[in-house]
Amino acid sequence: MNIPKLAAEQKKHLGIIGCQISHSLSPIMHNTVIQTLNLPMVYGVMDVTEEMLPSLISSMRSLHFRGANVTIPYKQIIMKYLDEISEEAEKIGAVNTIVNNNGRLIGHNTDVWGVYLSLQPYANEIKNNHVIIFGAGGATKATVFAVAKFFSPRYISIVNRTAGKAHQIINHFSPQYRLTKFSHLETELDIQREIEVAALVINTTSVGMKPNIHAMPISPNIVLQKNQLVFDIVYNPVETSFLKLAKSVEARTIGGVEMLLGQGARAFELWTHQEFPMSAARAVLTQELTNPNGE
Ligand code: NAP
Repeated sequence: MNIPKLAAEQKKHLGIIGCQISHSLSPIMHNTVIQTLNLPMVYGVMDVTEEMLPSLISSMRSLHFRGANVTIPYKQIIMKYLDEISEEAEKIGAVNTIVNNNGRLIGHNTDVWGVYLSLQPYANEIKNNHVIIFGAGGATKATVFAVAKFFSPRYISIVNRTAGKAHQIINHFSPQYRLTKFSHLETELDIQREIEVAALVINTTSVGMKPNIHAMPISPNIVLQKNQLVFDIVYNPVETSFLKLAKSVEARTIGGVEMLLGQGARAFELWTHQEFPMSAARAVLTQELTNPNGE
C-alpha cells in the first residue's frame, strides 16, 4: 500500500512521530481501517529529530490535526510539550498517543490496552500468581502497569541486562501496587526457580526482533514449563525464536501482534470515537508481516 503524504489533502491528519521509523506498520494499519470506514482522514509518517519536536508539536495544535502515535525514542520526552497527560500515561511515565482536542494536546498510553487485550483471556490464571518479565525499557513500563493493575499477580519479577533500569521500574511501580511483590532477578538459578513457578513469562526486550531473529531473551540453560503462558511483545517476526522455544516445550504462546492491534484500536477510538475494524487491521498486518515486500 502507498502511504499518503501528509498535507496532501483537505483531510484530518494523523501520523506517527519517531526516529528511523520507515518500517513502522502503524501507517498501513491505520490507513487500512480509515479506508474501510471511509473516513476523511489520512495517517502519515513524521520521522523527526529531537530538535524538530517543539515546532512539530505546535503545528499539531492546528484543526487539521486530529492526533498522532509516538514511538521510539520520544515516548517520554514528548510529555513535556503536551497540555495534559492522562492518568494512565502519567502513572506509566510514557505517552504513545496524542489527541488534539481543539488545540489542546492530550497524551495517552494505549500500549497498556494492547497488553490488557492480549492477556485478558488468561486473567484468572495470572491473578495471585507469579509473573516474570524480561526487559526494563519503555514498553516494559506499560506492560508492568497493565499486568499489576488489571491482573493483580502476587509477584512480578524483572530480569534486565542493565540492573539499574530494572530497579527504576520496581521503585516506580511498587509503591503504586502494594499487593504485588516486585523483585529483580539476576542469577540463572534465581531466574530458573522463578520460571518454574510462574504462570506467565513475558518478553518486553527487543531481543529476537528482525533482523536478529535467532536471538533470545533467555539463556539457553533456562527451561520454560509445559502449559506456562509465554507472551512475546515483539511482533516482527510474528513467531519469535522465544515463542518457538516455548512451543517446543508445550507452553502456550501469545504473540506481539495482539498488542499491536490492541494499542492501535484504542488510539483509533480516541481519535475517531468509532469502533476499530479489527478484522481488517488484523488481515493487513498478517499480510505485511508474512509477506512484507508484497512478493
Ligand atoms: P527500549 O525502550 O529500547 O527497551 C529495550 C529493552 O530491550 C531494554 O530492556 C534493553 O535492555 C533490552 N535489550 C535490547 N537489546 C538487548 C540485548 N542485546 N540483550 C539483552 N537485552 C537487550 O524498547 P521498547 O520501546 O521497550 O521496545 C521493546 C520491544 O517491544 C521492541 O521490539 C518493540 O518493537 C516491541 N514493542 C511492541 C509493541 C507491540 O504493540 N507489540 C509495542 C511497543 C514495543 P537494557 O535496559 O539493558 O538496554
